[in-house]
Amino acid sequence: MKTLLALARDLRDLDGQGYPAYKGIRGRYDTAGYVLHVEHVQGDPFADPSRIRVDVPPATAGLPAWTVRTAARRRATADFLNRRLAAALRDASRPLGSGNSGELRVLRPGQEVLARASVEVDGDGAVRARLRAGLPARGRRIQGEAAAALLTESLPAAVEGALFYAALDPEALRTHVETVEDAVALREQLEPRGLVAFVADGAALPRRSGVDDRPLEAGVVPFDSPAALRVVLPAPHAGEVAGMGVPRGVTLIVGGGYHGKSTLLRALERGIYDHVPGDGRERVVTVRDAVKVRAEDGRRIAGVDISNFIGALPSGEDTRRFFTDNASGSTSQAAAIVEALELGAGVLLLDEDTSATNFMIRDARMQALIADEHEPITPFIDRARQLQDELAVSVVVVVGGSGDYFDVADTVVAMRNYRPEEVTEQARAVAATLATRRRPEGGAWRPLRGRRIDPASIDASRGKRASAIRVRSLDRVDFGEHLVDLGAVEQLVEVAQTRAVAHAAEWARDHAFQGTGGFPEALAAVLAEVARSGLPVVHPHAIGELAEFRIFELAAFLNRLRTLRLRELP
Ligand code: ADP
Ligand code: MG
Repeated sequence: MKTLLALARDLRDLDGQGYPAYKGIRGRYDTAGYVLHVEHVQGDPFADPSRIRVDVPPATAGLPAWTVRTAARRRATADFLNRRLAAALRDASRPLGSGNSGELRVLRPGQEVLARASVEVDGDGAVRARLRAGLPARGRRIQGEAAAALLTESLPAAVEGALFYAALDPEALRTHVETVEDAVALREQLEPRGLVAFVADGAALPRRSGVDDRPLEAGVVPFDSPAALRVVLPAPHAGEVAGMGVPRGVTLIVGGGYHGKSTLLRALERGIYDHVPGDGRERVVTVRDAVKVRAEDGRRIAGVDISNFIGALPSGEDTRRFFTDNASGSTSQAAAIVEALELGAGVLLLDEDTSATNFMIRDARMQALIADEHEPITPFIDRARQLQDELAVSVVVVVGGSGDYFDVADTVVAMRNYRPEEVTEQARAVAATLATRRRPEGGAWRPLRGRRIDPASIDASRGKRASAIRVRSLDRVDFGEHLVDLGAVEQLVEVAQTRAVAHAAEWARDHAFQGTGGFPEALAAVLAEVARSGLPVVHPHAIGELAEFRIFELAAFLNRLRTLRLRELP
């Protein structure tokens, strides 16, 4: 193995040469107790910056045993190091010359604490980082001196200042780890206590803006649980934590417009993840199999059995195996629910703001005007109880507009001035005095028809390229010749998750969909392989910009592929 000194010399020698000469620096370099690995060199200054892996052995990283003892602690510690490294690399970046010359960067985490390929911490305390460096050039001529400074001075300084325990604020790291461990412990208590979510008193739920997920800074009304739903859960570090327990069953969130209903539901959606200290949602936790479902007109639907919600269509299409390239509000929402159930969702989260009205409710007057045979939709209100009673799937639904839902609710929470009140009894009393007069529709719940995917239909090829996957943003992926729009997949929170599911979809084609199993079994095999081999397994180049994902988000990606086809069932 060469040393960093040798790398500096080599880089200076390359000064003035054409950019491709950089290829020669690929390899491993020994430095102050750790290894810098130039894994891939960009082809030109405008291409994705070069990939660098940093392997820090336990003795050099110096992480104390408490930081790595459990998987949750390793994830929290890695997340903490990742944030420090992102800040240090940003400070060390020296934009110069052409393209991304002089840029140093690593994945920048959001408010959630996720497992990521960008920084990983092993059980023995080894630290691995996957980052990027834009090798400097003027035009297409190598700037050797600048490259030497970047790779052998700035980069090591950032690494040593962010990944070595000795350089860190130990109290901040401890708070980070304890916050995550508390959230994990709170979440683990939900199921045994018959809860689907928990919102601690004092939590700050509103966000700075629709495009800024950090906490709102001023005027936040802290969460204050209603006595009837208050539970106290022990957390290993925070001690006894009081807050609102959302019970299994059908829960309504009602209240006037702008009183904080959607903000509460969004916090529950995100409660499947742990949050960084100071986020406001550190102690808002939801069971991991809770899935947000919403309307998404225009989406693709591939062979989903939506017949429990959508019966005979005027076009005569088979809704037990429904295909469309342009779903309506109601068919898209029905598909989203069935797709979640197909993967074993235990809780469905719905908000009237993002639901199709005719999917949610058909009132007595509309029932009287439009005869059953002309209305294919069985509204969600008629399925909510069956989901709970027959499939043991809980539902949390925001409905400010329809009191008919009182008839199917187990629990009703009213938001008033951002404060929750428990109003189940009042809602029952209202339902008893003001009868809805609507008739239940839809009959018995019919078991869902399973799907098997034709692997050949997962096709990312484009022109001569067998695989062309470009992740444009959190919500948009060019997958071969088609755009995959993930704007309605609201529990996808980091672009690195989007990248991971896009590549996992292709990986699944080659490794998981070849067998005879159904869709859920194939996806479970992907998740199992990621758990066994790590996130980079889904990507051909083991890049750092990958983050953990659930089976639901992987399915959501595949379900939105415009090319997806089914195999014939035996
Ligand atoms: P609803 O769904 O009931 O119409 P929203 O949840 O959309 O209301 O909230 C309306 C506004 O109030 C949003 O701008 C949101 O950020 C803000 N808000 C929500 N909860 C709080 C709170 N606890 N403290 C301060 N502002 C809040
Ligand atoms: Mg709302």
